[in-house]
Amino acid sequence: MAAPEFITVTKDGAEGVTYVCGCPCEPTAAPTAEGPGMEHCCCGKVHFVGAGATSALGNYLDERAARRKREPRYERGATSVTLAGKPTEVAWAFPID
Ligand SMILES: [Zn+2]
Ligand SMILES: [Zn+2]
Repeated sequence: MAAPEFITVTKDGAEGVTYVCGCPCEPTAAPTAEGPGMEHCCCGKVHFVGAGATSALGNYLDERAARRKREPRYERGATSVTLAGKPTEVAWAFPID
């Protein structure tokens, strides 16, 4: 799978990070006061945005795997996008199957 290309969008007056998902949604996430923000799209793709995104994504997927019977395997990656003028960590996990 090719790494997704993340772009910034302005939604409800705030900048967020999204990608072309392939479903009708525009999954958008932005850092929050508590830490990385995340969006888990209806199609199963997940992305986290903000400092610590990679570890937050890891914790999130570990927790899901622990409490769900059927959890897909994910291809994971991390990148950086410029959000509100600052380089911002983005971590993603897209289902393989
Ligand atoms: Zn969707
Ligand atoms: Zn989607």
